[in-house]
Amino acid sequence: MKKILTVIGARPQFIKASVVSRMAKLSGSIEEVILHTGQHFDSNMSEIFFNQLSIPRPDIQLDIHGGSHGQMTGRMLAEIEQALLKHKPDRVLVYGDTNSTLAGALAAAKLHIPVAHVEAGLRSFNMQMPEEINRILTDQISDLLFCPTNTAVNNLNNEGFAHRQVHVLQVGDVMQDSALLFAKKARAPTGGLPEGFILATLHRAENTDNPERLAAIVAALNEINTSFAPVVLPLHPRTRQMIALQGLELRVHMISPVGYFEMIWLLDHCELVLTDSGGVQKEAFFFGKACVTMRDQTEWVELIDFGANELVGADKNKIIDGTIRNIGRNVKDTIQLYGGGMAAERIVKQLCKG
Ligand code: UDP
Repeated sequence: MKKILTVIGARPQFIKASVVSRMAKLSGSIEEVILHTGQHFDSNMSEIFFNQLSIPRPDIQLDIHGGSHGQMTGRMLAEIEQALLKHKPDRVLVYGDTNSTLAGALAAAKLHIPVAHVEAGLRSFNMQMPEEINRILTDQISDLLFCPTNTAVNNLNNEGFAHRQVHVLQVGDVMQDSALLFAKKARAPTGGLPEGFILATLHRAENTDNPERLAAIVAALNEINTSFAPVVLPLHPRTRQMIALQGLELRVHMISPVGYFEMIWLLDHCELVLTDSGGVQKEAFFFGKACVTMRDQTEWVELIDFGANELVGADKNKIIDGTIRNIGRNVKDTIQLYGGGMAAERIVKQLCKG
């Protein structure tokens, strides 16, 4: 029996971990200890995912959120170290690119506990993004690097990983596993929605924490909502705060953050996805929808090459033009860009080996 301690803390990590935890349990060879850092703590950003996706309750629940990146990551590092000393796992498993990812990986590496990283090798090549720093450093101290795409493997090869004593494996994307596994559970959010809507999400710091970018995106969403199609926006708590702080007025169909089952219903029923999220770009594709991405770079470059996704930055006119070009356009995955839903199984197989 292998003892794996999983560190999670943010919404996308709950969704990714749900399928791997489930598969780990089915394997009968892994004892999983779950540590939740508390980075996301509102019940509609955290608890709802544990309930809907049947993720086991965390064995260790920390309460670390807010403050600067340094404060948050530092507190996590100290508390995760204590948990590792107590539980003595054979390996630590981390997901994605948040402060919880980096703190979990660093605490483990300093105690010489091997680290497995799910979503290894992704790069935006923009070091201004906190996520880019977290993922580069986490990859550097991991010995099992689970890459979702060939691009991610190439990125690691370009950084010299091919010559190191580590395993770089292309396993596919766990988010496709989740989308396939839970598709039949999709259900409409309560409260009624307009017909023919565009689904938008907005929460990247590079947009919310930059007043000019935020104002341009809000202006574009308002105009799209008035002139082209209703925009449904499950609003991230931080974005709500920043919009209020900047005194901006967002005139779209705003709703509170929704659970995963409601989110996949929205993805399935919308006419277009307009987002700055990493995960939602791929989910648009899984549900056959074109995506317009309000960022200057994406880690998911294969979607751009495939013609499923268009980058428009935070430029009001480009966002509107991209929306007009792509609304109602369906896309079809003809070449299995993300592994077809086998990622969790491949990850668990490798975790059982060592
Ligand atoms: N999501 C959700 N409810 C929402 C908004 C997003 O369940 O109201 C899901 C979404 O479907 C995806 C994940 O949260 O699976 C993406 O998280 P987010 O956009 O916060 O993070 P990123 O992927 O950019 O790291």
